[in-house]
Amino acid sequence: MLLEGSCHCGAERFRVMSSHPYPFNRCYCSICRKTAGGGGYAINLSGEADTLVIHGAEHTSIYQAEIDGRKSPGERHFCARCASALWVFDPRWPELVHPFASAIDSELPRPPERVHLMLENKPDWVEVESRQQDRCFAGYPDESIAEWHARLGLEEL
Ligand SMILES: [Zn+2]
Ligand SMILES: [Zn+2]
Repeated sequence: MLLEGSCHCGAERFRVMSSHPYPFNRCYCSICRKTAGGGGYAINLSGEADTLVIHGAEHTSIYQAEIDGRKSPGERHFCARCASALWVFDPRWPELVHPFASAIDSELPRPPERVHLMLENKPDWVEVESRQQDRCFAGYPDESIAEWHARLGLEEL
């Protein structure tokens, strides 16, 4: 499906095609939480990088977090005017781009189950609103975004 997104101030808009549009991943890592986490977590989607179209790209800034003294290859794109988190691009997976669900204006499908990840980085005050079928991980989950969609038969081809 086509995902259309924008920052809060409207300086930047983008669209990207995605076969994996269910926002099921809730990441509680310190980077997501501090830079994008409205609920103490952030949700990343998966789109096809070569379909990404950006309007207002001159307003984009990129943040690369430092983890254990090393710069993360993950490029977190955000609007330099209003600070909205937009998407993550990681050159290790150049065919993918990971928009934040928070930046998407298209109506996203509601995930039947969710994954709570990086819980070891979660502060105490953040409560995990876990439903029965949800899965929780201290670090990264054992499935990719594509594998989760395939297991549940939710892939849009
Ligand atoms: Zn903006
Ligand atoms: Zn994270």
